[in-house]
Amino acid sequence: MGFNVNNIIRENIKGLQPYSSARDEYVSDGSQMVFLDANENPFENGVNRYPDPQQRTLKKVLADQKGLESENILLGNGSDEVLDLLFRAFCEPKVDNIITLPPTYGMYAVLSGINNIENKTVLLAEDFEPDTEAILNSADAHSKLLFICTPNNPTGNSFATEKVMRLLNGFNGLVVVDEAYIDFSPNESWASKLSEYPNLVVTQTLSKAYGMAGVRLGICIASKEVIGVLNKIKPPYNVNELTQQKALSRISDGVRISSEIQEILEQKKILVSVLLTIGFVQKVYPSDANFVLIRVDDANTRYDQLLKKGIVVRNRSTQPRCSNTLRLTVGTKEENIKLMRVLKELEQ
Ligand SMILES: *Cc1c(COP(=O)(O)O)cnc(C)c1O
Repeated sequence: MGFNVNNIIRENIKGLQPYSSARDEYVSDGSQMVFLDANENPFENGVNRYPDPQQRTLKKVLADQKGLESENILLGNGSDEVLDLLFRAFCEPKVDNIITLPPTYGMYAVLSGINNIENKTVLLAEDFEPDTEAILNSADAHSKLLFICTPNNPTGNSFATEKVMRLLNGFNGLVVVDEAYIDFSPNESWASKLSEYPNLVVTQTLSKAYGMAGVRLGICIASKEVIGVLNKIKPPYNVNELTQQKALSRISDGVRISSEIQEILEQKKILVSVLLTIGFVQKVYPSDANFVLIRVDDANTRYDQLLKKGIVVRNRSTQPRCSNTLRLTVGTKEENIKLMRVLKELEQ
């Protein structure tokens, strides 16, 4: 009956002993020690030592902010690495499968291909909500991961709470809730429901609202048991020292992050109001993220026209249910003014 992580873990991972690095074996207690254990160059330059493989300081700050324990968190080289670790821990190549809900983030399908795992797709409904019964019906004994992206990329909407709950209750594998855009959303993170759903995995990232796409830091939040499994297979030093330092200083500046998010949301409101007046924009989809998906008369033409004016957007027209759509990221006030001016010019 109850969910047990041991029932879904790959056989070869179960008995695995993780690589024990020098920095794992001796953990500094703050006293002055002479480190002759890792063959490092002893001359200080800021990065001559290996980084903390468990990122203890960073995890503690994140855990405190989110009301969790450090043992509920695994950090990765972007959330893309975190997602890949989930495949490698739980999905047996050529045997297991995952379920994804297009139109959605492209990396789930890419990772399923790389890891040789079947990707069962169940289209979102017309309103871009998950079709819960179709999803649960498509699951079989080998369905290990179900990817739920909310707010969803590229559609921008958040999924209804009852639907996500239904999937958490009805799916026998791990439900991976990708919250890359949660900080722009009025909704609470699913991380607050961790104790209620042992099969819940939440992924977040510093790449979007936190403004740190360049440092590559992804966050995986799950039960201690699931995190324990991922810890066994992660590369020892997957989050480098510069990333840990930069992330710490940025995270401590919560006021600045909040004000940037507020500014982006304000600009999104202005952009949407103008988009609604543009003749060739047929639909502006509701968005809880820092982008908006729009349907236009001819996406290829409009894409090229914008490009000629120096504005790069994403053409999402090849995605199911997304014909003639463009995805526009919300930029600064100045960038937004330029975008809105160009859109009006193209209307002439
Ligand atoms: C941008 C994005 C990510 C971020 O990936 P990183 O590897 O952390 O930069 C993850 N999921 C979705 C849905 C995204 O749009």
